[in-house]
Amino acid sequence: MKPHFSQRSESIAPSVTLAIDAKAKEMKAEGIDVVGFGTGQPDFDTPDFIKDAAKQALDEGFTKYTAAAGIPELRQAIADKFNRENDLDYKPSQIVVNCGGKHSVFNVMMVLCEEGDEVIVPAPYWLSYPEIVKIAGATPVVIEAGDETDFKVTPDQLRDAITDNTRLFILNSPSNPTGAVYTPDEIKALGDICLEKNVLIMSDEIYEHLLYDGAVHKSVASFSPEHQENTIIVHGLAKAWSMTGWRLGFIAAPEAIAKKISALQSHSTSNPTSFAQKGGVVALTEPMDHLEGWMKAFAERRAYAHERLTAMAGITCYKSQGAFYLFPNISGTGLKSSEFCERLLEEENVAAVPGLAFGADDYVRISYATSMEQIVKGLDRMERFCGQLV
Ligand SMILES: *Cc1c(COP(=O)(O)O)cnc(C)c1O
Repeated sequence: MKPHFSQRSESIAPSVTLAIDAKAKEMKAEGIDVVGFGTGQPDFDTPDFIKDAAKQALDEGFTKYTAAAGIPELRQAIADKFNRENDLDYKPSQIVVNCGGKHSVFNVMMVLCEEGDEVIVPAPYWLSYPEIVKIAGATPVVIEAGDETDFKVTPDQLRDAITDNTRLFILNSPSNPTGAVYTPDEIKALGDICLEKNVLIMSDEIYEHLLYDGAVHKSVASFSPEHQENTIIVHGLAKAWSMTGWRLGFIAAPEAIAKKISALQSHSTSNPTSFAQKGGVVALTEPMDHLEGWMKAFAERRAYAHERLTAMAGITCYKSQGAFYLFPNISGTGLKSSEFCERLLEEENVAAVPGLAFGADDYVRISYATSMEQIVKGLDRMERFCGQLV
């Protein structure tokens, strides 16, 4: 029998990145020396003090259900983090711990959006945003910003996109895939419009700690109590603590929204993994000493890769200010992103993610969360590839 699929499932596009990723893995299995620029996670290990706390939790039998919204000490640690780092006061009741930042985004969409609603998504976007909006039944309204504006949407663009049906504006700074970081003034301008127009903001701040060249992160929630009331912050431990597999994300929101998300979660995943949460507590309460070495490595690789990319035939490249990606413009090569990435993989054994996946077909995403040796090798090959095209 042919199954009947829900409208919801029919609307989900399979990940464009998956084809490239599967192909790269296949080639590796065949013994081919593939350089991977596709990865979306730090190449460093989770710091030992975090692992030790989770191990201890296991040994002590902390292996049962917890409160759906997370253990009180983790919610308190998250509230303290916002107070310490972002000058934001949240009560633990305004914090919900989720099974990864992606799950946080999912929960936000599911409690705030439905059929007929519009969600404004600036492109280039993190590829899951529009898909999750569609799963919730709502319509993504994409506004575009290319490298000519450093990948930042303007207040006018946002204002023009808002309709009576707009429920949410998604802000992601520092950005995946571009590494763009909005300045505090730019953030405030966007936040003010949303306040004026009664549009909530979902602010994904997961790359908050990964900044370069003196860029600063300012949460849109932190300008005034009104801005805070109008914002749902999405955050998580995946990137700055290299805990992608632990599945720990969290939201900070007005209490009514946090309650709804907690109720939804109580009937879907229930709590995030008990002993992982214990690791989360020490991650958020101990100093981030590990980050200094990581950022030094990221900064070196970013500088090197940016210099190499800008020297390649047909390529220009915005110098990212955050995260661990560069997002070069390949339009000078005459290829669109899918063909560029397919051929780069086939002809030179280098895997990169086509910009099409992020709503920007003239670009490719290069992750430098890999060793300098791999970066040098991969860029040598990419340079040869581009040289043949142009
Ligand atoms: C990695 C990432 C997340 C969350 O990832 P999880 O592994 O689900 O915690 C959220 N937003 C962006 C933009 C990301 O790049």
